[in-house]
Order: sequence, then C-alpha cells, then structure tokens
Amino acid sequence: MNKGLLIVVSAPSGCGKGTILSEILKEDGYYYSVSATTRNPREGEVDGVNYHFISKEEFQKRISENGMLEYAQYCGNYYGTPKKEVDEMRSKGRDVILEIEVQGAMKVKKLCPDAVFIFIAPPSVAELERRLRKRGTETDEVIAQRVAEAEGEISHAGEYDYVIVNGALEDAIEDFKTVVRAEKLRADRSEY
Ligand code: 5GP
Repeated sequence: MNKGLLIVVSAPSGCGKGTILSEILKEDGYYYSVSATTRNPREGEVDGVNYHFISKEEFQKRISENGMLEYAQYCGNYYGTPKKEVDEMRSKGRDVILEIEVQGAMKVKKLCPDAVFIFIAPPSVAELERRLRKRGTETDEVIAQRVAEAEGEISHAGEYDYVIVNGALEDAIEDFKTVVRAEKLRADRSEY
C-alpha cells in the first residue's frame, strides 16, 4: 500500500481556509491532524477535536521527548503537530492534513521533503480586510494587526508548491482536489 500524502496547508486568517478544509474532509481517506496548543480554548472549541489543549509544561515535555513533528510560537502561545499520529495515519494510507502557520510549514519542508505544500491566499489584501470587517468579530486594531500579519504570510506563498486563490469557494475546493489528485499520480509516488 502507498503511504498517505502529508498535505501542509497555510493561510492567513480570513482566507476561508476552514470552510475549504471542512468540505475536503467530508471525503474519505483524509485525516486532519489535531495540533497541541498552550492557548486557551475559544468558545465552542472542544479538547481533542479542535486542538489538544495542554499546559506549557506538558508542551515542553512533549518537545523534549521528541513527540512533536514541528512546533512554533504564535502570538505568545505554542502550537505543535503530534508526530505519532501523523506517522501512524500515513502508514495506514490516510492522507494527513496539517493546518499550520508558515514557520511550522517551513520546518516540515526540511523534515519531510515528500510533503505537499499548499498556500491558500485571498484574492487581494483589500478583499481579506473586507472579509475580516464583514465577519464583525474583531476591533479595528485587531483587524489591522491581522492584515499586517497576512501580508507577512503572503510574502512566503512562493515557498509553497501550490497557491490556491480563494475567490469563489467552489473553485478553491475543486483546485484543492485537483492538486491532491495530481500529486497521487506523480511518477515518484507510483508503484507502477
Ligand atoms: P488559532 O489560534 O487561530 O487557532 O491558530 C493560530 C495559527 O496557528 C494558525 O495560523 C494555525 O494554522 C496555526 N497552527 C495551528 N496548529 C499548529 C501547529 O501544530 N503548528 C504550527 N506551526 N502552527 C499551527
């Protein structure tokens, strides 16, 4: 059996990444890697589903035990990918999706050269700002911070294998599926 793909997805907040991934995950064969984090759960988030919410001490213990494939600090909290599940699921042939920020993605690129890197981008920074405002959940100051952060992240898009521009949702979902389909047909993954 072929090993499952390791699909690394990054996107600035407000790009619709969550919506795209929830559609993709309705299909069989995928496994969404649940990260560990030291940040507090947001309302509605469930431990073990959205994240494994753990203490800083526990997080550091897992790092020292080599339990993290990668980890990064983001806005004062640790976020990391538990290594064991990723390896286990891939060896069962499941395609594993990591939804992680740019620093972590670049670490995975060094560690797992066979991984597929997808950057989901907004049609433009102005559109991203408009979407964040429309969501209405953040203050002007936070929106400005997120827009600035997004610009920094977008500047790394060229380091990914694929850039999917999320203009129309249906197209972005189709693009994602096309990338996965093509990656599976690569000669270097083929047992032919
Ligand atoms: P949030 O706090 O909004 O859930 O996530 C903040 C950022 O951390 C997002 O860009 C998200 O993709 C990223 N993130 C989530 N899990 C991980 C992880 O395991 N590793 C890394 N490097 N980033 C992560």
